[in-house]
Amino acid sequence: MIEIHNLSKSFGKLEVLKNIDLHINEKEVVVLIGASGSGKSTLLRCLNFLEVAQGGEIFINAEKIDIAKTDLNKVREKVGMVFQHFNLFPHKTVLENIIEAPVFVKKKAKSEAIAKAKELLQKVGLKDKANYYPEQLSGGQKQRVAIARALAMEPKVMLFDEPTSALDPELVGEVLQVMKDLASEGMTMVIVTHEMGFAKEVADRVIMLADGHIIEEGHPNDIFAQPKHERTQRFLNQIL
Ligand code: ADP
Ligand code: MG
Repeated sequence: MIEIHNLSKSFGKLEVLKNIDLHINEKEVVVLIGASGSGKSTLLRCLNFLEVAQGGEIFINAEKIDIAKTDLNKVREKVGMVFQHFNLFPHKTVLENIIEAPVFVKKKAKSEAIAKAKELLQKVGLKDKANYYPEQLSGGQKQRVAIARALAMEPKVMLFDEPTSALDPELVGEVLQVMKDLASEGMTMVIVTHEMGFAKEVADRVIMLADGHIIEEGHPNDIFAQPKHERTQRFLNQIL
């Protein structure tokens, strides 16, 4: 589904990603871990072309993405993204947030987009909130709207960047539940999270990023029980 060869990304002199190679299979759920500043968000943003890497190749669905030649809106249709701070449009209702991109980017008929949005709201447990504004919702509800909004584009892959980090603890579970449901339906997902219980339960693979490299990866049972790399051990000790 996603293939990355030799990806590198710097900000000025700071090399954040150094020759990253990564393959993500269809229906795979990958959790990305690593210390703050290790480049997790940058890697996700490169996959969605919110950042342009300096070197390397990215293939999505076997298609090489050449940013000079490819319509990036088309790529972003395939790759949905959910952010820590929801990024909903504050002056639009929940329904308007969800239909915005399908109607204005994908040129879907409005009636069709509305029908799909209602289906997605049902799926994330918010069917009675269609006409609410974001400020009238809890953080957990906002994040579920953000997930529904990303799904409205019918992406092939979903990227999540610390989707529960800004939530009060009692609201984390409802968002993780929506993500678990998505995983069990076979969505391909790349998730940056510190929720290791969730990772144990849902991830097919955990990847540890440090110093711009993937220093360790494996099944969550192996990584959590017997991290091989000293940096992984230290990181897990800090957050568990
Ligand atoms: P993480 O998500 O793992 O905490 P990030 O990918 O956000 O890490 O950041 C990796 C490094 O790149 C950090 O040192 C950060 O300060 C730097 N960085 C990220 N985005 C930018 C940017 N737009 N301009 C300059 N430096 C950046
Ligand atoms: Mg980050």
